[in-house]
Formats: sequence, structure tokens, C-alpha cells
Amino acid sequence: MGFGGAAQRPRGEAHGDGNGRGAHPGGAMSRFGVDLGGTKIEGAVVDPARPDSAVCRLRLPTDSARGYSHVISQVARLVGMLERESGVKRPAWIGIGTPGVIDPASGVLKNSNSTCLNGRRVREDLAAALGAEVRLANDANCFALAEARFGAGRRRRVVIGLILGTGCGGGVVVDGRVLDGLHGIAGEWGHNPIRGERTPCYCGRRGCVETVISGPALERFYRGLTGRRLRLPEIAGRAAGGDGAARATLRRLRAKFGEAIAAVINILDPDAVVIGGGVGNLDLLYSGQTREAVLKHVFNTELRTEFLRPTLGDSAGVFGAAMLTASSRSGARQEGSPRARRTR
Ligand SMILES: [Zn+2]
Repeated sequence: MGFGGAAQRPRGEAHGDGNGRGAHPGGAMSRFGVDLGGTKIEGAVVDPARPDSAVCRLRLPTDSARGYSHVISQVARLVGMLERESGVKRPAWIGIGTPGVIDPASGVLKNSNSTCLNGRRVREDLAAALGAEVRLANDANCFALAEARFGAGRRRRVVIGLILGTGCGGGVVVDGRVLDGLHGIAGEWGHNPIRGERTPCYCGRRGCVETVISGPALERFYRGLTGRRLRLPEIAGRAAGGDGAARATLRRLRAKFGEAIAAVINILDPDAVVIGGGVGNLDLLYSGQTREAVLKHVFNTELRTEFLRPTLGDSAGVFGAAMLTASSRSGARQEGSPRARRTR
């Protein structure tokens, strides 16, 4: 069942159920947000008066190798821990961000690189395990929403939030609202093709952005040149020390990032691009040379788009997830009636 029925929507901030659920000791209704990632599950209790800081924040390993049921039970365990640690009872609605998206037509999760979640009715199964209604959204959309509302992208109209790390995700926020799209895939720049690239991707295509400039892809490129298995931060360190192969790896990142993000800029012409994820930590992405690499492929003679580091750290995802429960209009990639989605 989706969010189409008005009776199912929480109204405004009043997502408690009248029995003290979600009530903060201070009186305000708290929000619960969960970021269900491939390696860790992070949860936070957030006071709506201070949406960019957590009353309580906890983590558990996802252990996705132990299977789908285990992942669902880990989320339930974490929410129980949040209640005990914060002294706040879980609200009637809990916001959860995860890689992938609920297919609007079938109601099952798709496109997740945590592949054990694909094809499952994740929202319903989480709701049953948590004894609460669940708003589920793509993790990159949660990141983009939080950074656009009260992080690096605040006061800008059109903000692209990228997660550039193990994978390449992205979300689009316009006037403070996530653009989710007819198929739920708006902002998925990581599976656009890069010219001349042929590496197979888990999505079934070849030469996707993710197979070229994700952290593992860049590490693979360096290994191909040197035979050495190094993590990206070490490769960046070696580049600074003059290692030719490491410098070639970073040159490749700059050039291919330029081509990949220019395709997004040509369509959406954003005010700002906020770059999260491990690869997003690299200084070179914010340099003048990278701007030139982008401009080379942009349909304009100048580039005023800002490239910004996230200001909410690795908490943006969990804050964005908590925000999903703030009102019926602020969510990202929620299921809803087609009419509601298109008019949002
Ligand atoms: Zn792909």
C-alpha cells in the first residue's frame, strides 16, 4: 500500500499517535531517521527544532552477507537501541534511506547495490519489524535533501547531491523538494555511459560512470598500472609524492568526472553540486583544473555552478531520512499515486 491515501499521511509535524510516541522529554515531537547502507546502518533521533543535529546517534553493522531477514532485524535492533539510549519512544512514522528505490509500479525495491534488498517489499517488511509506518527513500536523495535544506546547498534553488564513493548515486532538490521522477530514478548519474568505456556494471550495462570513477573503479585502474592493491586515499597521497601511476589515476578521475557531471549540468543547470562519499573527500574535485574539465563539456562559455563539500559530514543521509517524516510533501521517492508524484 502506498502513500496515495490522504488518511495515511501524517499531518505536518504531528506524527506522534497521541499515546506519547515520538514525544521528546522536552515536549517536541522527535523524528527517527535510519540510513541503511551496504556496510553499516546508522540511526538518529532528531529534534525538529534542530534538524541538523542529533539527540542521539547509533550505528550497527549491516552484515548483508547474512541475508535479507538479518538486515531487517538489524534495523529493528537499532531502533530499539535508539529508544533506550534517547528515552524517546519511536514515533508512528520512521524515515529510512537506502540504496535503490521502490519501483512505483510494483512496490518492490530495485537498483540497490545491496543486492539482497532488490525484489523485496522492503518498506512493508521494515514496517512490520518496527511496528511503525515507514517512509523509504533513496539514500542519495536523503543526502541531497539534507544538504540542500540546511547543509552546504542552503539558499540555492537547484542543488544536486552526489554520493561519489563505493558507488555513484545522486539526488536532485529543487526549491527544497526532492525531484523523484516518474520511475524514481531522477539524479541517477552513476549509470550514464562514459564515452569509450566498456567495463561491465552490476546494472547490466557497460561503461557506466560508476565503473570509471567510483572508489573501487579508480583503485582497479591504479592496480592495472602498477599491480599494487591500494586504497584511494593512499593513491592520492602517492600522487602528491610524485608517483606517476597515482597521478594518472587522479587525472583520469578529473577528466571523467568532468564529462560525467557536465551531462547533468547541461540538463538541470544547478546552482550547486554537493559531493559526498569517500571520493568526494579528495581536494582535486574542488580545484580550478576540475572546473575546466567540467566546462570542456558544458554547453556554455563559463561555469558558475558551485562545487561544494558537504557540511553535515556523514550524517546528511540520516538527517535526510529523519526529514522524510516531517510532512507529507517533503519526502524523497516515496510511493504515492502517480498523480501525486507528477504534481509534486
Ligand atoms: Zn550501471
